[in-house]
Amino acid sequence: DEEKRKYVKDKQVGKGTYADVFVGHFASSPSTKIAIKKIRFNADFKDGISMDTIREIRALQELRHPNIIALYSVFSSKNQNLNLVLEYCPRGDLMELIRDTDNVHYGTADIKAWMGMLCRAVWFCHENFILHRDIKPNNLLIAADGELKLADFGLARSFAEPETRMTYNMTTRFYRPPELFYQARHYSGVVDVWSVGCVMAELVLRFPFIQGDTDIETANKISETIGTPTEDNWPGVTQLKAYLAPTNVVPVKRKPFYMDLFSSLGSSGVDLMMSMFALDPRKRATSKQVLQHEWWQQEPRPSRKEDLPKRG
Ligand code: ADP
Repeated sequence: DEEKRKYVKDKQVGKGTYADVFVGHFASSPSTKIAIKKIRFNADFKDGISMDTIREIRALQELRHPNIIALYSVFSSKNQNLNLVLEYCPRGDLMELIRDTDNVHYGTADIKAWMGMLCRAVWFCHENFILHRDIKPNNLLIAADGELKLADFGLARSFAEPETRMTYNMTTRFYRPPELFYQARHYSGVVDVWSVGCVMAELVLRFPFIQGDTDIETANKISETIGTPTEDNWPGVTQLKAYLAPTNVVPVKRKPFYMDLFSSLGSSGVDLMMSMFALDPRKRATSKQVLQHEWWQQEPRPSRKEDLPKRG
């Protein structure tokens, strides 16, 4: 209750799948805006807070990084509602910028700036043994100063957590890596790297690179678009629980295919993207390798955050 009095809730600014989001300010500092995310209780969890929520809180409280949304506080209000006090991001999310092709124009330097901020956030999560598992453009919020912030850790979990069987059906379908479609029991930080590759491709194309109406359709789309997972390119894949034997084997796409679609990224940008789309998770770049890639050092230099395009 004492904690609650430190924050003033103003008006509602958003509604998510399990939360209502308000803009507010610190009682002691009316000019410092905050977002208050009020978690709606799942009827199944009326005795307590859902595990997803607990994970979101733990993940966020431990992580402090310029590209990860800051969690200032957690408090409960009446009816034991749970409120997360978060950094306020008034400039919407990356999906709005990607989709508004009429009003929002950007180039490779801007893509490199957003990608750099995203990749540093993901690397930092993994350094701290946290998987995000739901990286997608609408979870990438834009702060007032243009900084990109990785948000919505509802699904984040520590991969150090012992014993619990990992659940596979978690990341949003279009950004989900093949090992999750095949229900691999053990997976690692490279699940997020695949999603980052999907965001990179979408920034160029301005629509999702791999789309399907169902999980099976999306898994088939990976096979058609990137190449068909086989024992040759991914030893052990046929043993995974939900592996589907392909009716038609598409060879893994090589560089000219990517150069046709993503030439604006340059040859080295395409190399980086291809390293994120390795089908076999053991061959996929780690978030650390992504940051060590030569693309970041090459022309064009990333845009300064104050020069990045804004919502129309
Ligand atoms: P859920 O996790 O329940 O799906 P979201 O985190 O997606 O909820 O939040 C719902 C909406 O609230 C977002 O689309 C966005 O418009 C707004 N929102 C969420 N967090 C913030 C924030 N930190 N600053 C500003 N707006 C936010």
